[in-house]
Amino acid sequence: MSRPASRSSLRKPTTKLAVRRPAPRAPAARTKWVYLFDEGDASMKALLGGKGANLAEMTKLGLPVPPGLVVTTAACNAYLAAGGFPSGLWDQVLVALAKVEKKAGKKFGDPKKPLLVSCRSGARFSMPGMMDTVLNIGMNDAVAERLAELASDRRFAFDAYRRLVQMFGTVVLGLPDEPFEEILALHRRRRGVGNDADLEADDLAAITAEFKAIVAERTGKPFPTDPIEQLRLAIEAVFRSWNGKRAIDYRNAANIAHDLGTAVNIQTMVFGNLGADSATGVVTTRNVTNGAPEIEGDWLSNAQGEDVVAGTRETNRIATLAAAMPGVWAEFARHCKKLERHYHEVQDIEFTVERGKLWMLQTRDAKRSAQAAIRIAVDLADERLITRAQAVARVTPEHVDFFLHPQFPASERKAAKARGDLIASGLNVSPGAASGVLAFDADTAERWARDEKKAVIMVRPETKPDDVHGMLAARGILTSRGGRTSHAALVARQFGKPAVVGVSALEVDEKARLFRVGERTFREGDAVSLDGTTGEVFAGALDTVVPDFNDPGLLKLLGWADGIRKLEVWANADYPRDATRAREYGAQGIGLTRTEHMFFETERLPIVQRMILATDDAERDQCLAQLLPIQREDFAGLFRAMDGLPVTIRLIDPPLHEFLPSHDELLRDVTELDTRQRIAGAELAAGADPLGLAGTLSQKRRLLAAVEAMREANPMLGLRGVRLGIHLPALVRMQVRAILEAACECMREGVKVKPKIMIPLTAHNNELMVERAILETEAAAVMKEQKIRVRYQFGTMIEIPRAALTADKIAKHAEFFSFGTNDLTQTTFGISRDDAETGFLQEYLEKRILPENPFATIDQDGVGKLMQVGVALGRRTRPDLELGICGEHGGDPKSIAFCHAIGLDYVSCSPYRVPIARLAAAHAALAGAAPA
Ligand code: ADP
Ligand code: MG
Ligand code: MG
Repeated sequence: MSRPASRSSLRKPTTKLAVRRPAPRAPAARTKWVYLFDEGDASMKALLGGKGANLAEMTKLGLPVPPGLVVTTAACNAYLAAGGFPSGLWDQVLVALAKVEKKAGKKFGDPKKPLLVSCRSGARFSMPGMMDTVLNIGMNDAVAERLAELASDRRFAFDAYRRLVQMFGTVVLGLPDEPFEEILALHRRRRGVGNDADLEADDLAAITAEFKAIVAERTGKPFPTDPIEQLRLAIEAVFRSWNGKRAIDYRNAANIAHDLGTAVNIQTMVFGNLGADSATGVVTTRNVTNGAPEIEGDWLSNAQGEDVVAGTRETNRIATLAAAMPGVWAEFARHCKKLERHYHEVQDIEFTVERGKLWMLQTRDAKRSAQAAIRIAVDLADERLITRAQAVARVTPEHVDFFLHPQFPASERKAAKARGDLIASGLNVSPGAASGVLAFDADTAERWARDEKKAVIMVRPETKPDDVHGMLAARGILTSRGGRTSHAALVARQFGKPAVVGVSALEVDEKARLFRVGERTFREGDAVSLDGTTGEVFAGALDTVVPDFNDPGLLKLLGWADGIRKLEVWANADYPRDATRAREYGAQGIGLTRTEHMFFETERLPIVQRMILATDDAERDQCLAQLLPIQREDFAGLFRAMDGLPVTIRLIDPPLHEFLPSHDELLRDVTELDTRQRIAGAELAAGADPLGLAGTLSQKRRLLAAVEAMREANPMLGLRGVRLGIHLPALVRMQVRAILEAACECMREGVKVKPKIMIPLTAHNNELMVERAILETEAAAVMKEQKIRVRYQFGTMIEIPRAALTADKIAKHAEFFSFGTNDLTQTTFGISRDDAETGFLQEYLEKRILPENPFATIDQDGVGKLMQVGVALGRRTRPDLELGICGEHGGDPKSIAFCHAIGLDYVSCSPYRVPIARLAAAHAALAGAAPA
């Protein structure tokens, strides 16, 4: 896996300021600043840059590379530090140049046998667009005339000449391109041609003269006609470009250190524009879109390298080179294969054919799509070019993620952008693409999706827990507010719904059921598309394609990952359908079922509410009796889906008021009803109540009183989790009964059940002891009634620091721990996630007070340390204690590496993260990840 340069290397504190000493004098005269291509190799990227090291490597392999030399990155750094060439550098360039001349059989600046060179920059890491290459250095009037003669092609010679003046003027001397282009346009008009290629030799000679005049006029100095002077200036320009704005911005964005410097490659020119037997092209050694093992790319006959990329002429598919130049093709295909075998990696190659002779101009590891990355890694391993472990290491979590969500094809996206339909961007919080019609509330979203079978995009300023049914029904979720940890983002990720949140450009008007963005207005029912992978929002319905998770390459690769990883991967799933999906994706168990989610369903909520409001045990027991069979079926469904695998069921966790209507709403309703009743007072006095106000009012008053009685200032730290279980034992007893009865039912069907009963929010071992006694009694009763012995386990979540710190005591009553890192992060930091993410967390991240969002990636120093303590203490009491994590971090690759390092048994994450976690766990095992 390639890692970006670590941030710390960029911001090393300068702690040694006080003892700064003059730098030791470098033995300047002895430093080797210049290497010939045949003096280097691919291992020297830091010194020779990526381009130079690979040119050297190809030379070493005996491939036809036009001879050249590399001025090192160290020379660049020395130049920038001193403001001039370090001593010895220029002499070394001249000595090396003489050797290049000898190899090429030509002489730089000698009109008899002129050598031309290119000057190409090349840092250790590829930095596209840092400095453009200057071709044809070494030209002047005499050389051009001679070249025209030698090539019997005057047009060619003067085209090369005018290109040099233009490139030198813009790239080396920093002039704008427009005046040059204007002159070209003028000449095209004068000739009545549309393309520079149709200009004639005399035009080009005239253009060259005019170009030189521009240079003289704008710089106050004549265009340098001395080739050696051209070369010196070009090298200096490359050095200086390292500190240009373009370069600095790029390094900041790509996280590349600023002190690496760039190398300069001076290379003999070869010409692909010397007639029909000349050509140039760019290929990758395999198809980098789909991974197919065939050379892919473009070529042009009678052209120079940049013509292929510039797109001014229509290029030919590389396959046609075989027919056009069979000999060249055969040789080229051989070189491609050789390079791929040599680098053990797909290559991106530039070549030029000069009068039938093939020259290799560049090779580097090719960039590729997710699909190609996986297919290529698997194929290379099958071809034994790399090991299976290397194949696994080369695939990234993002590559795997691609297969789990619908996507917009590149063509759709491009067309939409061209139409101006990219209307806004926000945070890319849940990957995948979706399009559909806008619905402005959850009920509408659900109704349209369910009853009218429409594809819906639900849009809200932000979402709340009672929006979940709409979010589940929608194809995608869009909000104008909220951050990466907002409710919308969490739910979307959990259920694999594409989502873009915090799109501040959207002005959502809920009342008018529309949103405005810039000049445009989108109403309910209008079509939009969003891409949760990039954060883009488009007008209109873009087509989506669904990648096939059952891609044979992907399955094979994940299978290899499974063989490498030590961590098991489980899933968080509340419903049988989630469990089934998780299993398809390779989950080895359910690490968290949130039983309360089931309580929210429409037909159950009234029973739950009545149970909460019950004033006596009899009424409560009656409600619980109604809930029992429903929960039993929930659990039986999970057991069946996970046949043979563990299912961890967490008993009720949230504070009960979450199941009741909101306090503020009730208060408003009561006040309103009360007022209406007062106005209608006279009729009521007469005993009439045609609207039934009195009944509704008293019912609402009762609800309000109950909600008020239960109201807590900090419900997150209030009566919830194990505390609630102890306070209301009948409820958890019902849940345990449902679990055990479901287990018995399934065992009778022949299903292998492995239930694990999990207690949330334990802080003190006594809590667990009390709760366990209640529950084991109930479990024993069920087994006796059913005459079946169920092997179940009893364990707890570790999500309160006290629990981690006293894990040795807790482990006496728990057979397993599951780190609930969402709450553990909240309780360790003492911050509420909901408040943090809508407020100060963003600011903290921007100001780098926190290096990372601790709700996305485990805070190893704090939360992580508690986990380590919990692991060590827990295992001390119970060596076979089973340890897992079920917070959202369980699907985050960095956090997974940490879980591996501290020796957990499994991570549990959303079903959609399971394949990613399988890969990440393998990466962790390969890296032997140690806690940072
Ligand atoms: P980039 O990194 O932008 O591709 P390059 O240095 O590779 O820049 O060069 C730009 C173009 O010039 C490429 O098409 C390359 O093949 C071509 N080129 C560079 N050096 C030579 C050379 N010595 N002879 C012929 N073409 C060259
Ligand atoms: Mg190139
Ligand atoms: Mg919790």
